[in-house]
Amino acid sequence: MKFGGTSVASVERWRNIRELAAARRAEGVRVLLVVSALAGVTDALKALCAEDDASARTQAADAIAERHRALAAAMQIALPERVGTLLDGLRQLAERGPEADGDPLAWKALVQGHGELLSSALGAAFLSAQHLPTQWIDSRDCLRAVALPNQNTRTRTLSATVDAQPDAALAERLAAQGEVLIAQGFIARDENGRCVLLGRGGSDTSASCFGAVLKAARVEIWTDVAGMFSANPRQVAGARLLRQLDYEEAQEIATTGAKVLHPRCLSPLRAPRVPLWIKDTNHPDMEGTEIGPQVREAAPSVKAISTRSGITLVSMESVGMWQQVGFLADVFDAFRRHGISVDLIGSAETNVTVSLDPTENLLDSDAVAALATDLAKVCRVKVIAPCAAVTLVGRGMRSMLHQLSSVLAEFGQLRVHMISQSSNNLNLTFVVDEDVVDDLLPRLHELLVRAGSLRSDDSQLFGPSWQALYGSGEQDIAPAWWRGERTRLLQLAAERSPRYVYHLPTVQARIDGLKHLQAVDHVHYAIKANNHARILQAVAASGFGLECVSPGELAAAKAAAPDAPRLFTPNFARRDDYAAALDDGATVTLDALHPMEHWGELFTGRSIMLRVDLGRGLGHHEKVRTGGSGSKFGLPLDQLDRFLELARTHDVRVQGLHAHLGSGILDAGHWGEVYAQLAALAERIGSIEILNIGGGLGVPSHPGEQPLDLNALDRVLSEVKAAYPQYRLWMEPGRYLVAESGVLLARVTQDKRKGGHHYLGIDAGMHNLIRPALYEAWHEIVNLSRLDQPAIALYQVVGPICETGDVLGNDRRLPVSAEGDVMLVAQAGAYGAVMASNYNLRETADEIVIE
Ligand SMILES: *Cc1c(COP(=O)(O)O)cnc(C)c1O
Repeated sequence: MKFGGTSVASVERWRNIRELAAARRAEGVRVLLVVSALAGVTDALKALCAEDDASARTQAADAIAERHRALAAAMQIALPERVGTLLDGLRQLAERGPEADGDPLAWKALVQGHGELLSSALGAAFLSAQHLPTQWIDSRDCLRAVALPNQNTRTRTLSATVDAQPDAALAERLAAQGEVLIAQGFIARDENGRCVLLGRGGSDTSASCFGAVLKAARVEIWTDVAGMFSANPRQVAGARLLRQLDYEEAQEIATTGAKVLHPRCLSPLRAPRVPLWIKDTNHPDMEGTEIGPQVREAAPSVKAISTRSGITLVSMESVGMWQQVGFLADVFDAFRRHGISVDLIGSAETNVTVSLDPTENLLDSDAVAALATDLAKVCRVKVIAPCAAVTLVGRGMRSMLHQLSSVLAEFGQLRVHMISQSSNNLNLTFVVDEDVVDDLLPRLHELLVRAGSLRSDDSQLFGPSWQALYGSGEQDIAPAWWRGERTRLLQLAAERSPRYVYHLPTVQARIDGLKHLQAVDHVHYAIKANNHARILQAVAASGFGLECVSPGELAAAKAAAPDAPRLFTPNFARRDDYAAALDDGATVTLDALHPMEHWGELFTGRSIMLRVDLGRGLGHHEKVRTGGSGSKFGLPLDQLDRFLELARTHDVRVQGLHAHLGSGILDAGHWGEVYAQLAALAERIGSIEILNIGGGLGVPSHPGEQPLDLNALDRVLSEVKAAYPQYRLWMEPGRYLVAESGVLLARVTQDKRKGGHHYLGIDAGMHNLIRPALYEAWHEIVNLSRLDQPAIALYQVVGPICETGDVLGNDRRLPVSAEGDVMLVAQAGAYGAVMASNYNLRETADEIVIE
């Protein structure tokens, strides 16, 4: 168990350590504590070393002694003898100075190593006094530093590497000494018996070296955060805790920017396969990150997105360099001479660009300038800084490229200096200007979740978000209604399956949410999302109109709610359809020249709405984007004048403009833009009274996605409306009102292992719910019969239809499931039953409404 500087700096924190160590002891294991120096002491010792005269040094030593005496007093223990001896020794070292023994580096290491020696000696006394007998161990008698060929005397002394081979004799010797031991981080001994330091992140490295040497059951790094996250939580509050990682992934995340673990501390643990846990000292019961040897069965997923700032790029240009044998050797020799190590490399026929990472290099501008001068002798040099490296980490990155299009699109707006894909297939790195990163990171994280490339639904891998663990919690997302209705649903499924169930109170809650929008004058529900009579009645009873796209829908609307205003917004409908709609009293929306050019007399004396194409589309999938030149909807703006001219000729009044750009939009700003664009057009036309800004209000589907903020929507709309107050504002949501109210219940038919996949067959398929096949839509799927069992199996959830695309969910983490289990597909209330077919001559699911 390793504890850092702040964790050992006060008596309260030591009490905490006592509890944690005692708890582990109670589990029947022996405990070795590895501690850092008290917070600030290592820096004070460094400052001591930098002093030139003896009196300043002894003064510094006295101040350090005082801190330890004060802590001993707070611990209510007499100053332990060992601490007294160490403090005397430190004072003598300070007096004598670096040159006294002719080995200034060894002196420095010994002085700086005193921080850990002191904290551990105090800790041993305190824990023993608190009835946890604790033996003090000198790490230098346990950890041997080895001299590596690429190290000079300085790095061998101040940034040493430990030979972490398992040592059974040492393990036995320590076991004989007691059940709780305490040792120092940061220090070891070299072949010549000198005290050496392990450099930055030294205590983490010490702990993992001890873990490897002793072949420990595990290493626990106790720190101030629960573990590794899918992004830096300081930049992305929605970043998710990573529950389980293998060594390689954790190494990659640590190397590419996560600060919680020093990258050096994982490699000693790999060969002896010792797991490493990261835990939060302040919240010991909170789960953390477990890093281990197992590469787990899991869906390919981006695990984390990390960033490193302060990156310098060096671009080296030479004409026809590949023909010059030894060019790269010359170039890289310059880096070696300047002691600068290279991180990423990109090459072309005449150019090699490398990145320099500040955590690996002492990169001041002098060092870079000197390097550049040297390089200029063999090539043309350009230095680009400051840059940042943004890295996506995950096993099998190359197989995930197709899911990254939205992420890559984000980089389309930026200057990307370099892209690098690691040869171990674990990372994909983009080097961009440093100043864009703070804005970029939260957006990228959200896009990764939304695109399903960061599989936030896999609860084995992804834990709660940082916000949920430490912040004010997530934006209040009530648990889905079906959790509370489990018994009733199981009963309904036992009677018959597959079957749709709609929860009317949830529909009503969404209706009420929209009714509160001050800025919206009238809502029409797009009944194509779900035309169940009970739902239409509920919507109509709340004063909403019904938006229909076919004569069939007009009839259904009229039958269920005769008094609700009807809006007819078809696309490529027949002449007769319009005639019938007008007879029916519906408000008709046209979206092409053709009806006006060829059937103009049909509309004479009438008021109509005009749907325009604002030239762009939006939405969760290309097939739901209904705007833009690639879609068949709306009148292109360059035909607007012609349309208006025809309308005048036929005495048709264009009373409203309409635009509906797509479905599944979660950004409130969108509708404000649509309103502003329509309003600008309307001012040119004159007769316009109504602006219909469409539907498309999204419902979050992936865990971690934030719901559409209705208050923000109202604010945005009120603002644009204040600029154009003369228009009435209409909206026509479909999915938003009904998606969450509906579930599809099905039962497990068979399971099958094939080709590395585990298929779970259910009696509902794409004929019941086509959204996954049609839009790659993601629906949560749970095993309702085993809702409380751990989700440990990874399934492909498939239906009975003879199509490869008959997959309702890929790579789903579920409890081990059996024939007859009731499965629930969530958020199936919109575009579910209404899109069903009898394909394969399979029966459709029936629909039940519950109050
Ligand atoms: C389908 C449709 C809607 C509703 O879309 P949702 O994404 O379900 O909100 C609104 N307006 C028109 C014209 C539509 O075709």
